[in-house]
Formats: sequence, C-alpha cells, structure tokens
Amino acid sequence: MRKIGTDAYSLDTNGHVALLSSGRLILIDTGTKPDGEILLPEIEKTGYKVSDIEFIYITHTHPDHVGGLAKLKELTDAIVLSHELEAKYISKEEIYDGPPGSKYQFHPGTPVDVKLVDGQIYEGLLTIHTPGHTPGHSSFLDQEGSLLIAGDAFRNDPETGFGPMGDQYTLDPNQHKLSIKKLSNYNFERVILGHGEPVEVNGSKLLRQLVERENY
Ligand SMILES: [Zn+2]
Repeated sequence: MRKIGTDAYSLDTNGHVALLSSGRLILIDTGTKPDGEILLPEIEKTGYKVSDIEFIYITHTHPDHVGGLAKLKELTDAIVLSHELEAKYISKEEIYDGPPGSKYQFHPGTPVDVKLVDGQIYEGLLTIHTPGHTPGHSSFLDQEGSLLIAGDAFRNDPETGFGPMGDQYTLDPNQHKLSIKKLSNYNFERVILGHGEPVEVNGSKLLRQLVERENY
C-alpha cells in the first residue's frame, strides 16, 4: 500500500488497484484473486473498512482487474461502474473476440450497475474512454485532485518509464497508442496505474514526453 497525496492509495495486488477517499470511498479495480486475498488486507492497511466502499469502478475485464469483483460486490454492496462498452464483458454476457481476451474467461461475471460514456463525470471522476487494450477500457480522472487512474491505458516501467502495454496483452495496439495520445491532452500530476509504481508529480508531462518521443 502506498499513499499518493492526501486522498488516494495505490494498493499492491500483483498489479495495482486504487482506493480514493475524498468524501466517499471508491475502489478502482479489484485485483486477481476471486476471494479478495491480497486486496482485502491492502485495503485494511489504509485504515478504511472494506464495508465502507460505496463505488467500484472497473477499467477493463482482465483477470488482474476483475478477479475480485464478485467478492468485493458481495462484501460491500457497492455500485459497480464501467464504460458502457466494457459492461457486457464484466457481466460475462460476452467474451472478447479472440486472443488475448479469449483466455480471460474464468471470472464469474458481475452485472454493472452504472454504464458510463466518454466525457461523463460521476462522483467527481471523469470517464476517459481509452480503447485498444480492450474495447471499453477506460481511465478515470479526478480533475480537481489532479489524479489519473489509468488502469492499463499505459504502464510505468521501472527502467524506461511510461510506455504502452505489451502487444500480447492488447487487442488493438494501434488504437491503444492513440488512447495514450488522447490521455496526454489532459492535465494531471498524480497517476495510479495497473502496472508499475504510481507517480506523484508531472504525470501528464511525462505522458506527453512519451507521445512526442514515439510519435503516436
Ligand atoms: Zn489489462
């Protein structure tokens, strides 16, 4: 568990999950383990109670992001939110067409209560549709707090810094890079990501450097 600023936590679940505590408790993504193992003790370390979580946002339907969703829903009865295009995969009405999504069928499926669209603000979080990694992948931006929850829109490599997710994990690598470019048009200092350490300053500046360097 690492505190990022005064109101956000990056929880380490072999990958990272975000907990936002500004006024209401929001969990973004749910780790891999179906029983909440690893994630539940990480939440407790923040001093907040799992049962106080009111909203669960899902960035996309990969096992390290939705694995614990059914359990967390059961424990919290929180409102589950995702982009409208991702909802049918989270509920398991549909499976991603072909690899790599076809491998990711073992989560039980959980209905999405609120289906978000690009540009929508809900509970202070702006939905930014960042497709490519999956069709409905979305990142969530707290504009007031200058905090981006990126999910797998990009990653933070310990040696090379911000970069795209590997092509082998990404349905449409070109679209994924266009989504990185789209995100770089927003302003934010702090970033919590699915893969790699969070950053506390210069988030969007670092992302713009990636876009310019790689000419996305
Ligand atoms: Zn992913």
